[in-house]
Amino acid sequence: MPADSLSSKLYRAAREVIPGGVNSPVRAFRNVGGEPFFTRAARGCRLWDADDNELIDYVGTWGPAILGHAPLPVVEAVHEAAKRGVSFGTPNPFEVEIAKLIVDWVPSVEKVRMVNSGTEATMSAVRLARGFTGRDKLVKFEGCYHGHVDSLLVAAGSGALTHGEPDSAGVPASFAAGTITLPFNDPGKVEEAFAVAGGEIAAVILEPIPANAGLFFPAEGYLQALRDITAEHGALLIFDEVMTGFRVARGGAQELYGVEPDLTAMGKVIGGGLPVGAFGGRAEIMDQLAPDGPVYQAGTLSGNPLAMAAGLAQLRELERQQGWDRLEEIGAAFEAGVREALAGAGKDYTFHRVGSMFCLFFTEAEVSDLDSAMAVDKEAFGRFFHACLERGVYLAPSPYETGFLCMAHAEDDVARTVEVIGEALRVC
Ligand SMILES: *Cc1c(COP(=O)(O)O)cnc(C)c1O
Repeated sequence: MPADSLSSKLYRAAREVIPGGVNSPVRAFRNVGGEPFFTRAARGCRLWDADDNELIDYVGTWGPAILGHAPLPVVEAVHEAAKRGVSFGTPNPFEVEIAKLIVDWVPSVEKVRMVNSGTEATMSAVRLARGFTGRDKLVKFEGCYHGHVDSLLVAAGSGALTHGEPDSAGVPASFAAGTITLPFNDPGKVEEAFAVAGGEIAAVILEPIPANAGLFFPAEGYLQALRDITAEHGALLIFDEVMTGFRVARGGAQELYGVEPDLTAMGKVIGGGLPVGAFGGRAEIMDQLAPDGPVYQAGTLSGNPLAMAAGLAQLRELERQQGWDRLEEIGAAFEAGVREALAGAGKDYTFHRVGSMFCLFFTEAEVSDLDSAMAVDKEAFGRFFHACLERGVYLAPSPYETGFLCMAHAEDDVARTVEVIGEALRVC
């Protein structure tokens, strides 16, 4: 950004009053260098920054914008709802509608509670799992992100049973110590952990398709193995589908892979761009929540009418348009184009895609866990990212993020993007 650009001026002003100038760290471009741009408006698959540069967007507000930005059905639903009141603090009819839709669509969910973010969803699911099982320990996997929940901010710890070290200052070591962190895609390590501590493990939590350390996939049979081990030991299986829910299929990754968890955390797409999360699962477990049960969980703005109206409008529009078929179609076209661009630039980089989610890894090696994802050439990615941005294509500002296509990406947007990617690959 030129120093006299509006974005640059806004960034300097922001840094005076907001830590790092941002309200969520990944927006600060630290993984690619340079300064973030400020967005003035967004519509369809495009963003306009404060200086009126037009960008084709593949971040999609980090996942929620599956229809594209400012989709008419969502904007109108929010507008209509707002006219009747922006918050009631009593139950409202939208809450029943969205709960019915989620129970209908997501295979394992019999009851669901709405919250305000993905972090709240995983935090509450973990508390519920502990309350239901009467156990304290958790198993999570390296590279899986579950929001900034204290006991889930642990990704380090190599040996199978090494007790976790917190990833963030301010997390008491005693919280992290209850979290057993294991490499993804290695069922033997999970067996070992249960052999040692099985009677103390409340739950195994994972992203069924890890999408926060690049994008990689569960090996054949891995999710089922986790289902079997947890069932055998009376621990719960929690799928964090905040990213994959309503995106990789109508019923999320659990529909795609045919494995049903006990609890599911949801977020992002479910809110149509408003702050929404949800967690749900078997009725027997969900009924342990207050006011019926002993596990406390609450929220002043949970089930907010604007947020519910936005989410309902987005999900219904997606279904009306047969969205998942369309996203696969445009995703396949994008993949074919990127592979051609890679070949044309003489690069043999690893490219992963499922439906509308993708990641171009700056490595020729296979990626199947955190270690292999971290092996990318970060400097080259930074140059590639900026080369794309200068040419009007906005990819996620980090080599460890998943990109998103949306319903508003048309064939010519994808064609232009592939052209830009081809050029950028040559100059990085
Ligand atoms: C984004 C994300 C979260 C956190 O959601 P927030 O709404 O940012 O709190 C949790 N889990 C996964 C898998 C995510 O991708």
